[in-house]
Amino acid sequence: MSAAPFDPAVVRERSLALTQALPAIEWITDGRVERLSQDFYWFSPVLKRQLEGLRADAVARPKTEDEIRAVVAGCARSGVPITPRGSGTGNYGQCMPLHGGVILDLSAYNRLLWVKPGVARVQAGIRMMEMDRQTQQVQVGTDGRPCGGWELRCVPSTYRSATLGGLFGGGFGGVGSINHGPLAATGNVLGVRAMTVELEPQALELRAPEALLLHHVYGTNGLVLELEVGLAPAHPWLEAIVAFDDFDAAIDFADALAAAPGIVKKGVTLLAEPIPALLRQAGVPALAGGLDGVAHAVFVLVAEFAEPGLLQMVGEFGGRVTLRRSADEVRRSNRTIVEATWNHTTLHALKVDKGLTYVQAGFQPERHVQQARALRARLGDEVLVHLEFIRTKEGAPNCSGLPLVRYTSDERLAEIMQIHRDHGVAIANPHVYIVEDGKQGRINPAVVAMKQHLDPAGLLNPGKLRGWDERERLAADAAGLATLPRF
Ligand SMILES: Cc1cc2nc3c(=O)[nH]c(=O)nc-3n(C[C@H](O)[C@H](O)[C@H](O)COP(=O)(O)OP(=O)(O)OC[C@H]3O[C@@H](n4cnc5c(N)ncnc54)[C@H](O)[C@@H]3O)c2cc1C
Repeated sequence: MSAAPFDPAVVRERSLALTQALPAIEWITDGRVERLSQDFYWFSPVLKRQLEGLRADAVARPKTEDEIRAVVAGCARSGVPITPRGSGTGNYGQCMPLHGGVILDLSAYNRLLWVKPGVARVQAGIRMMEMDRQTQQVQVGTDGRPCGGWELRCVPSTYRSATLGGLFGGGFGGVGSINHGPLAATGNVLGVRAMTVELEPQALELRAPEALLLHHVYGTNGLVLELEVGLAPAHPWLEAIVAFDDFDAAIDFADALAAAPGIVKKGVTLLAEPIPALLRQAGVPALAGGLDGVAHAVFVLVAEFAEPGLLQMVGEFGGRVTLRRSADEVRRSNRTIVEATWNHTTLHALKVDKGLTYVQAGFQPERHVQQARALRARLGDEVLVHLEFIRTKEGAPNCSGLPLVRYTSDERLAEIMQIHRDHGVAIANPHVYIVEDGKQGRINPAVVAMKQHLDPAGLLNPGKLRGWDERERLAADAAGLATLPRF
């Protein structure tokens, strides 16, 4: 952990003093603080060792912008670290406070502000399932125009509990990225309202592309109050599992279905042997009966009206449908195969085998199927193939890997990631908690400049943005902070 000017005893005393000074705010200081100081960091055996036991001193749960401002101003006055939090479903210790202080839990700041055809604005703490529920129902936009049936363009498999602010702060995308790419693709996020961390906090509107400088940086460089995002037409989504005995047929089918332009779809997931067996053992209710005797499975979400095209392709590739549920059946059962895709696959597999972990792999469009085959041949049963089919930020059909890894040691885990890189497959290392060591991959001076602007005292989620901790060195370089863009 990087050295920072935070004395734990002083931070604790000042955090607790804040809870007294701001009695109108909902504060949590009891045993719940421990749970609210954590996320799903324990997916990684490395992070589990490094981050276990971290705890904030208090949790604030503001309900209005004025309440948020009061907490932020109080922290700025006292020099207390602030860690923003949505629902805490992040994976890399993103919302775990390295230096104590206050967790700013935004889950009660959660209103849908307005919807127009194809776009909505919300408070950051809205849960994505709740947002979809509301935008799917709106028939007339706040601008008076017809506005029937819209939904988020991409949601993580945690959409039931996770917040949109949290997805923006720490996530990538998910179900729907097969059409619209990751959240970062141009047009998906149109703007954010952010609050500065200073004695008199200001709320500022940032439009894309500047707004994206606050994306996937773990809330280190700005506190997001509101988001304005593009929506997609909502369809009745049919869920199916297509089984294959042969891996090559399964991956060819998944890739062809993902690319098929006439089949309206929302998700295509490939889980190679023995993952279907692991999920069956985990007893995931949404999959009941769909994985019996299945070697390789492709989980599919297509519009109900696209079913004939889906079945035609299943026949062409020699698969068989082992589970089919209409949108209405999914809604009535309140169970969805979405909650067995993306990192939910990892979650369910971990329930069965605690010796597993995972990595995050970014394939190259056009070569992704070939690369996936080559890695499977190279790594065998040590790395279990899990592919999510997506479009890249630029729109090319591709896949993103969340392979399960039979963990033996940190060294072997590093070797496995290197083997991916040697095959031309990028790794977003999920076993690190520093922004630049993960997906970002390097110090981005514009991200650091944004922090200078929005959080000049460095109180937001301190210790996770290397560019901030090294800003003096960067400034000393001729091309460093002195020449960074100003916002
Ligand atoms: C089982 C499982 C499945 C998952 N599947 C996916 C997936 O399909 N796709 C995907 O992208 N991710 C996935 N994730 C990761 C995570 O669930 C998502 O990124 C989710 O959107 C995070 O939302 P949250 O509200 O829980 O955020 P949190 O975990 O609370 O926060 C995430 C980060 O954002 C920051 N943050 C939160 N709110 C704000 C704010 N208002 N302003 C500034 N910073 C803020 C936090 O400080 C933290 O660093 C998965 C995780 C798990 C455990």
